[in-house]
Amino acid sequence: MGKVSYNRVKIIATAGPACESESILRQLIEAGVDVIRLNLSHGSWETHRQVIDRVRRLNFQLGTHVALLADLQGPKMRIGNLPQAVPVQAGEEVVFSTENIPGAIPVEYDTLAQDVEPGDIVLVEDGRVRLEVIESDKKGTVRLRVLAGDRIGSRKGINLPGRPISLPTLSDKDWEDLLEAIRQELDWVAISFVRSPADIQLVRNALRRFGSSMRIMAKIERPEALHHLEEIIEQSDGIMVARGDLGVEIPVEEIPFWQKRIVRTSNLMGKPVVVATQMLETMIQNPTPTRAEVTDVANAVLDGADAVMLSGETSVGAYPIEAVQQMQRILRQAEADPQIYRFPGQPSPTSPTYHSDAVCWTACTLASEVGARALVGLTYSGYTAFQLARWRPQTDIFIFTPNPRILGSLNLLWGVRAYYYRRKEGTYDTIQDVLSILKGLGHVDSGDTVIFTVSMPLRARLRTNTLYISRVP
Ligand code: PEP
Repeated sequence: MGKVSYNRVKIIATAGPACESESILRQLIEAGVDVIRLNLSHGSWETHRQVIDRVRRLNFQLGTHVALLADLQGPKMRIGNLPQAVPVQAGEEVVFSTENIPGAIPVEYDTLAQDVEPGDIVLVEDGRVRLEVIESDKKGTVRLRVLAGDRIGSRKGINLPGRPISLPTLSDKDWEDLLEAIRQELDWVAISFVRSPADIQLVRNALRRFGSSMRIMAKIERPEALHHLEEIIEQSDGIMVARGDLGVEIPVEEIPFWQKRIVRTSNLMGKPVVVATQMLETMIQNPTPTRAEVTDVANAVLDGADAVMLSGETSVGAYPIEAVQQMQRILRQAEADPQIYRFPGQPSPTSPTYHSDAVCWTACTLASEVGARALVGLTYSGYTAFQLARWRPQTDIFIFTPNPRILGSLNLLWGVRAYYYRRKEGTYDTIQDVLSILKGLGHVDSGDTVIFTVSMPLRARLRTNTLYISRVP
């Protein structure tokens, strides 16, 4: 693992034509990528499966646990297939239709005509084209006036800012993709355009039915999700501030404030949170980022993000490796700031997991008090990893688990490095064994203090109930 760069704040890279080869994927991982995102709005499962196989092969060769995140498309409304982009200009009238009408621009959004009213604003391609509804026949055809923009491209996304959409959160395609992600035993699934906690429950029930241990990430990109933020975070295993669509659905100048609020709420509720989209956008074309982009990434770390995400920079950009290396350098610098290790919170006495949460919190506090070199969580479910990460200790966090299915999912968590480990019979022998493994890996030296969180008896797989402080022999 020595060659692989390591940060506390994790890096998610989106797969795509610019980085799908095994050699580029290897360089991305060596540069510090912790999670590969499969954007299911693009590409085929044939290509995604190749990426999955390559990442797993590289994990084996490099001794890493780079996670795989399936990002469902969700009810994305799109312009249909066009032989070429349609030129438009301000003041011109155009027709959008789900029916095959000569001269109309086809749209893939069955209820568009029912969902809009005269005067509504319709955006295409994240606002590149702005239109106003003149009239709708309430069946399948809408007449609009172009307010700004120069062309409407094939398969570009459509947004109706501020208008509730009537499509279900998971389309037929999303259900098929979810089933394939389960079959492929991916680590995380991201649900796009989440509107309510019920959306998460629906996916949670499906995962249970199939015995899947995949973790669920809610992408916050709809105004409705902002109104149910705490309930959605409560139901999810992780959160993504999906600034791309969010910045179209609400005024873009509100994004920095919502980012801070979503990150802070996720931090306080102990859920990992990802800041995504346009982080190093200009590196799609240029080998260096702008000062504003560098500052944005560093600010996401200071806000409290567990992970930051690259989209087009790695999927279609000209400099995918440079973008990850640059991200890694920004994170390293930001992590030198002591304020990222300060956490304003405590375990909640009303939580059903209060005792184990309190053990993990105490472990982190004690680690700082005694200057421990490592915090070690022995866990089967992975819950301890979420709890240790949540208190942002300056001490390194290592997770040892006999459950190989959770190794990838834990790789997204702030500061967590996880290892597969088959426990010894007794707790004391296990602790001594883990100390010698950590020493062998060069993570600790003789005389270092190491703090363990354990559940006793080990075999019973109870919640964490024990704190053990030891010195490396
Ligand atoms: C976003 O909208 O910011 C996002 C991450 O989602 P997608 O890339 O699927 O548009």
